[in-house]
Amino acid sequence: MNFDFSQVAIDTALALKVPMTIAKRNCAIVFAHVKGVIHIAASEDTAGEVKYSLLRYLPEHDSISVEIVETETIKNSLNKVYGKRVNRDGGLTEESTAVRMVRELLSSAIINKASDIHLEPSDTSSRCRMRVDGAMQSHSQYDSADHHQMVSRIKVLADLNISERRLPQDGKFSFYSELQSRSIDIRVASIPTKHGEKITLRLIGAMELPDKLESLGFDEKSVKSIHENLKIAQGLVLVTGPTGSGKSTTLYSFLKHLRKSEDLSLISLEDPVEYEMAGVTQVGIDHQRTSFSRALRSALRHDPDVILVGEIRDAETASIAVRAALTGHLVLSTLHTNSAVTVPQRLVDMGVPAYLVASTLNLVISQRLVKKLCKHCQKETDATSYGRSYRTDGCKYCMGSGYAGRAAVYEIMEIDNTIRRMVVSGQSEIDLHRYLQKNKVRSLWQEGKKKVNEGVIDAVIAERVIGRVDGLTQL
Ligand SMILES: [Zn+2]
Repeated sequence: MNFDFSQVAIDTALALKVPMTIAKRNCAIVFAHVKGVIHIAASEDTAGEVKYSLLRYLPEHDSISVEIVETETIKNSLNKVYGKRVNRDGGLTEESTAVRMVRELLSSAIINKASDIHLEPSDTSSRCRMRVDGAMQSHSQYDSADHHQMVSRIKVLADLNISERRLPQDGKFSFYSELQSRSIDIRVASIPTKHGEKITLRLIGAMELPDKLESLGFDEKSVKSIHENLKIAQGLVLVTGPTGSGKSTTLYSFLKHLRKSEDLSLISLEDPVEYEMAGVTQVGIDHQRTSFSRALRSALRHDPDVILVGEIRDAETASIAVRAALTGHLVLSTLHTNSAVTVPQRLVDMGVPAYLVASTLNLVISQRLVKKLCKHCQKETDATSYGRSYRTDGCKYCMGSGYAGRAAVYEIMEIDNTIRRMVVSGQSEIDLHRYLQKNKVRSLWQEGKKKVNEGVIDAVIAERVIGRVDGLTQL
């Protein structure tokens, strides 16, 4: 297979070990350090010498491998990693070390698709970790002086009191992302620790929504069924799963699909706004001042066709959402349950009468997010409880991690008349599950098994996230 630089996840912490001027002069980027081998992408002209020019900046290694990549491609990557700072005369602008370090840190987080950045001081140094795909990853190490400077810089950006180091503070600022050519919001929280201030940054709205539902992991048949259900003018569409299962990404993708028709009025109530979306009235819910239920009540006065409610977490919100779904609105929301078949009973437990659940619910999707295997280094392995499985060793494409992104594993329950009758007559989730099985609707576990067998996801992680056996089928 030819080397394809566009598929590489660049190890930005490694790349940034080389100063920008040196990297640009050599038209080269150090992008991976896997099993003792350092991988460098360089242009045809510089590839021969680049090893020697960059050597003093590289960490300890056994060997260096240089890949020749088109000059333009490298220049683009260099701009993403280091930022493009050109002044009016076309020269590079000067900036202080702290300003540069904070900018590089934020750019790295955006390139790595991190949701949070943690700057944690210890007695002699400070470590920086990022949350990527839901898991914490080490990013870099700073000495205490640099940590202190970066903290001050971040506090200035977020309009916090720099001299106050003994009390927790919070604030926010905007950062222009070169990668996405737009500003993203960053929420800042500082807290004093024994060794100095710890800073946590949350990147809001930095995520890119996929253009197609297929990219989230839905197959063609499921996408068709989802689109059919989104055409229905009224009713309830719910996405369920534990925290971090990608529920809101799925909901936003539905909204993105609905946004295509210009004759709909769309309102979304979110906590917080995670993706910015033109054409949608987005309301961030500040729980100290208001609640989903109050915001939902006022949203209904704005004549919406479609309302996205971030989460149904109390009886009042459930009741208003169901009434809205009954009176000519399409309501999209999330609910915290483990499977699709438990949703009707959960709504009943929240005080919604069973006949209203039956008449408003249109579609329920239960989902989990599971790390995707890097397709460049996967190999078939011994069967697990899922049967045929694959494992990865880590390669230059995946920063040696063996993974690349995450895939949604889901089950889809379309509410037909039989299910409506079953809900009204109070039949159990096991009955619902049996009915779905009879109709060849894949359960979460069956869908997970399929994705493991196809080599899309990791069996070990799937077993942890979804379970070793199909829980409901065993009953
Ligand atoms: Zn790999």
